[in-house]
Parts: sequence; structure tokens; C-alpha cells
Amino acid sequence: MTALTVTHLSKRYRNGTLANDDLSLQVAEGEVYGLLGPNGAGKTTLVKQVLGLLKPTSGSITVGAVDVVADPGHARRSIGYLPQGQFHMAGARVEETIFAIARLRGLSRAEARRRTEELIARFDLEGFRKTCLRDASGGVQRLTGVATALAGGQRMLVLDEPTNDVDPVRRQLLWNMISELGKAGTTILLVTHNLAEAERVIDRFAIIDKGRIVREGTPAALRSVVTDRLRLELTTSGPVEPHPALDADGTTQGAYMFDHAALGAVSAWLVILRDRGLVDDFRIGPPTLDDIYAASLAAHANEARRAVA
Ligand code: ADP
Repeated sequence: MTALTVTHLSKRYRNGTLANDDLSLQVAEGEVYGLLGPNGAGKTTLVKQVLGLLKPTSGSITVGAVDVVADPGHARRSIGYLPQGQFHMAGARVEETIFAIARLRGLSRAEARRRTEELIARFDLEGFRKTCLRDASGGVQRLTGVATALAGGQRMLVLDEPTNDVDPVRRQLLWNMISELGKAGTTILLVTHNLAEAERVIDRFAIIDKGRIVREGTPAALRSVVTDRLRLELTTSGPVEPHPALDADGTTQGAYMFDHAALGAVSAWLVILRDRGLVDDFRIGPPTLDDIYAASLAAHANEARRAVA
């Protein structure tokens, strides 16, 4: 069953910005679907329309069998949402917040209490149940936010950067939970920058750039896009002029990409550097998903430039 269908969706804001430009995608029930893309790509705009919080300029959105554009209230009721940024209700404690949202979502007192306990246990929030959210760390606020998005037992969730500020142990709990929820049939739309971690739980993803879908597929399909490149991570004890075959990664210092065909030349160069005592550490391996993501965006920018020329 298809849980979400977005067809030819466009959104132009009043100031003229075309934030979504003819987007189409389908998400199956129980699928964990990732939305990736740089800041300003149009992810939040898409999510807000799915949630019935923003009216599309054109195109259609259905959640289950319901037309969300015609009935935005349906989406607001039936989808759990964790927005980006801080989460707190003035002065409320962790436990009260989850309970209150569960009640708002239509659970009875007893059900809401049970659900609250279950979520506190699952997110390891026991030590914070009486903490006032306003005074809680960003991580505890974030986890409480995810817990409230789950409080009413919704069949569909939209999570915007759920792991921001969350410590590594609880981040792991969160990813496991997202994965379990998907397997249990909850449909999840996940906006994230954390590709390396999200890869484990994402069934399919769309890379969005400038309001359009640049690429869509499984993480494995994304990996198969760049099979002829390798990644070098190099730590040197002093300044070293990179080998001409190396392209700087652009984001991580000491990280480079190069063609498989140049492996021999790069290795020989590394040996020379090592013999001169200049290499502290190096690692050669397949590109990370972040590399591939960057390459996809660069390829898209090139295509756009060629189309203009
Ligand atoms: P993302 O979530 O991927 O960072 P957004 O959907 O927030 O992207 O934004 C997409 C584009 O729309 C950006 O250029 C942003 O500046 C613009 N935008 C977002 N909200 C508004 C708004 N309310 N009015 C005008 N422009 C907006």
C-alpha cells in the first residue's frame, strides 16, 4: 500500500521563491524514506505541505486515500511530526509533555500513561522525567520531541533531524527505534544531514536540490553511482603538495577522492612521503555516502550549467 503520494508538487512563496519545483514521489507503508539535501533545498517546504501546514501552489498530495490539499486537517491529525529546532512547552516537564500530547492525540488517560512510560523507557529518559524541558539539554529536548511525535501511535511520522544534539548512545537508541517502527509498519519521512548514520535505517531516499529531486533510490543504488572512485584520508606531519590525481574532498581536511585507475600512482606517492617521514597515518577505501552525495549534487549543478549554455 502507498502511504504517501506527492504528484507534480510546486510551491512558490509570495516573495517569488520557487521552493518546490514539480516534485513527485511515493512512499510505501512501513517505508523509511530519507529526504536529503543542502540547506534551502526545499525539504521543509515539502514536509509542511505533506503535513497540511502549507498550501501547495500546484500539484497534489495524498496520505493513505485522503487528499491532503483538500483536507489539511487530516494530515495534521494523522501524522506525528518532530519539527526542527528546540522543543518545549513553556515550563512543562518531560513526563507531562509526553502524556499531554498522547491525550491530545486521543488516547485515554490509562493508555496515555502506559504510552508515556513505554517511551520514557525506550529513550532512556527515566532520569529526566521530572526535568523541566526548558532547562533540559538540547538532546533531552530532542528525544522528548521524538517521543511526543510517537505519543499517539500514528501510522506516519515526519522527523526533521531527529538526532541533532543527541548523545551517541541515545542516538543509537533513536536509530534503532526508527528502524523498528518502520518494520512494524509505520511510514517515516526522515529529513537528515546525517547520511552515515541514517544509511542503516533508510529504505529509500530522495536527494533534493533547488526544489527538485536530483536522485532517488536505495542507499545501495546511491553507492553504485560512484564505483570508479576511491577516498584517501591522509594525516601528514607537515605541509604536503597533494598528488595531481587527488581531488580535495572540500569538506574534510586531509580527505581526497581519486580515480581507481590512479591507485598505483597514488600508492607510490604515499610510499615516497612515508619514507621521508611525512605521513602520520593514511587510509584508502570506498567513498562514503557523503562523498557520493556531494558528487551527485556537483553532477546536477554541471548538468544545469550545460542546459543553460
Ligand atoms: P530546506 O528545508 O531544505 O533547508 P526550505 O524548504 O526551508 O529548505 O527553503 C526552500 C527555499 O524557500 C529557500 O530558498 C528558502 O529561503 C525559501 N523559503 C522558505 N520559507 C519561506 C517563506 N516563508 N517565504 C519565502 N521564502 C521561503
